[in-house]
Amino acid sequence: MTDYDVIVIGAGNGGLTSAAYLAKRGVKVLVLERHNIPGGSATSFCRGRFEFEVSLHQICGIGTEAAPGPLRNLFERIGVLDKLEFLQMDDLYNFLYLPEKRSITLPPDIGEVTSQLQGLFPAEKEGIRAYMDLLSKVAYDVISVQYLGDPEASREKYPDYFKYTLKSSQEVLDCFIKDPILKSVLSAYWGYLGLPPDRLSFSDLALLFRAYCDFKPQHFKGGSQALSNAIADTILENGGSIRYNCAAKKIIMKNGAVQGVITETGDEITSRFVVSNSSKISTYHELMDPEDVPEFIKAELRQTTIAMSSFILYLGFNAEPEEIGFKETTNFMVGTTDNELAYKQMKTLDINKNDFSAISCYNLIDPGFSPPGTCQAMALTTKYADPWLKVPPAQYTDTKYQCADSLLSVMENFFPDMRKYIEEIEIATPITFMRFLGTPGGTFYGFDGNIKDSELFLPNNSGIPGLYNAGCWAGMPGFQPTLESGVRTARSIIKELNA
Ligand SMILES: Cc1cc2nc3c(=O)[nH]c(=O)nc-3n(C[C@H](O)[C@H](O)[C@H](O)COP(=O)(O)OP(=O)(O)OC[C@H]3O[C@@H](n4cnc5c(N)ncnc54)[C@H](O)[C@@H]3O)c2cc1C
Repeated sequence: MTDYDVIVIGAGNGGLTSAAYLAKRGVKVLVLERHNIPGGSATSFCRGRFEFEVSLHQICGIGTEAAPGPLRNLFERIGVLDKLEFLQMDDLYNFLYLPEKRSITLPPDIGEVTSQLQGLFPAEKEGIRAYMDLLSKVAYDVISVQYLGDPEASREKYPDYFKYTLKSSQEVLDCFIKDPILKSVLSAYWGYLGLPPDRLSFSDLALLFRAYCDFKPQHFKGGSQALSNAIADTILENGGSIRYNCAAKKIIMKNGAVQGVITETGDEITSRFVVSNSSKISTYHELMDPEDVPEFIKAELRQTTIAMSSFILYLGFNAEPEEIGFKETTNFMVGTTDNELAYKQMKTLDINKNDFSAISCYNLIDPGFSPPGTCQAMALTTKYADPWLKVPPAQYTDTKYQCADSLLSVMENFFPDMRKYIEEIEIATPITFMRFLGTPGGTFYGFDGNIKDSELFLPNNSGIPGLYNAGCWAGMPGFQPTLESGVRTARSIIKELNA
């Protein structure tokens, strides 16, 4: 007799949905979370009169009541659908090209994106149509082959999937599109996947782009913390337990199989199943002894690299969005169409116009996102942790402020008056995310999504009896994939429990 049927390490998206699905089906589950609130990245924090969204710019997969997406169904199955209010965005994103001070806003509909871009780039009319057709075909093929596991998948049945899925997004864009700015417009969602288009598989970009068009970019009333709180409540309502401020220190193993967990306070809790929502690095290097980790996992860890983190400004303004110049919720700012330059920028401390950056203002979809007369925004630029790890502690604060100043200067190209309205500002570096998420390099995307490491190749089963992974280390990053990965993991465990 064990203390729990399943212990879940970490209350991020993947851990929470896994635990909620299990608890709802009568499985005795315990969640251990090292932080004092649920959510991992999906949280908020308060400064002054603002409650800042930590992570979510846009979530896809929810859809509408009339045309529901897979997440609506998932929320229903874990019992949180009635607890959430969805906020739908009017636009896919606003693409801001710095050298020409040009702005292109895409609507959240594949047909409308196509006709709008054909109007703006008439010389590329045929290429845009062909690219969009291919993108849709590949996205749907990925769902049939990878997610639904079509047993009859073959080169003959899915020719586009077999031809294009392992090509880079840039290679495919180059086949159909000539204008570098148009290529940049079409691939701006790479920021949500962590690698520029020449390193990113086309199937990952196609799936993401099509999913946002089909299910519309959305947010939650109350931010992503409202989602995390709702899932945590469901776990408790269904008899599950959650211990906050309680990190797992060791996974107990016997004869190569999971036996339970030791917490940082020394409690030994027994269970035949452990779901780790912690990073794979921490799971296999810190929570386990080397002799318990199979060779193929060690090889996987040696072959992969840690994904990017970000440098972020959480901004509370004492002005309405219109006064600052925000017209769209999600704005991607691009200063170069040179992928290699953009990638190099991700590996430096320096912030300039060549960085890929984004700024999201949530009050445009919900005026109540901050107190009346104010608005909040998150300004972000994609950065790896390595240069931050080399900053001497005595210089960390100064460096942080210099970088904040540089990012504000980049933003001022499109929002020239924003500085004068700032009432609250909080700065997060990759080091901040290392501290709060406990991930290597402060990443919230897991491993770099290089083509060879794309969704296609990542198993959520660890190969160790009783041990499962959930979250961004077990598949694609982002809200929809990590929420779904938790449920996938829970279903595999239920199968084993019933076997
Ligand atoms: C700034 C930012 C912007 C983003 N924007 C978007 C966006 O617009 N759209 C989108 O879809 N995605 C976005 N993401 C990505 C998305 O938030 C993440 O990919 C996703 O939330 C990761 O979920 P996860 O399940 O992997 O767990 P995580 O969020 O990494 O949570 C893991 C949890 O495990 C806990 N933990 C770790 N080790 C232990 C241990 N030993 N014991 C106990 N607990 C432990 C951690 O404290 C944490 O709570 C963004 C992320 C960030 C940070």
